[in-house]
Amino acid sequence: MIPPVRLISEAAELAARRHNGMARKGRGNEPYINHLAEVANLLATATDGTDAELVAAGWLHDAIEDTKTTREELAQKFSERVASLVVECTDDMSLPKAERRRLQIVDAPKKSPGAKLIKIADKVSNIGARIHSDPSAAERDDLVDYTNWAEQVVAGCRGGNQWLDKTFDDAVRTARASL
Ligand code: ZN
Repeated sequence: MIPPVRLISEAAELAARRHNGMARKGRGNEPYINHLAEVANLLATATDGTDAELVAAGWLHDAIEDTKTTREELAQKFSERVASLVVECTDDMSLPKAERRRLQIVDAPKKSPGAKLIKIADKVSNIGARIHSDPSAAERDDLVDYTNWAEQVVAGCRGGNQWLDKTFDDAVRTARASL
């Protein structure tokens, strides 16, 4: 077992290297690592620092989907559970976007408790990045579309952590109030 502080700091470092140079979607062209830091921190807060593997998986949740990182590598460097959590949060990128989105809604209730929390934290972060102070019509449409879809995914993930459920609801409320 890797000590918890090392587990998380090594996950953060690997994520920073693998996502280097990528920008996140939404406001201000922020570096992708900001999204991963936000998701990891939401998970650390939600679980009050009691689940290092979950926080490490938060740092790494997009690594298989968006970078050359494999399940085997994560299992070997971190743990079997960290690898499984990341796999559960990985979409099949060979499918068209509409189908990937549909599958996220259908598959959400079948996910493990930890993966459900990562999914909710991911949606909180992605909604937040889409809120603009003076949105264009396209930005407005994107926020409406993303928030409506995220609500359907999160409906299948709720109930594991009250604080995270509430944080998601607050993000949705803030998003709709910004329109
Ligand atoms: Zn993400």
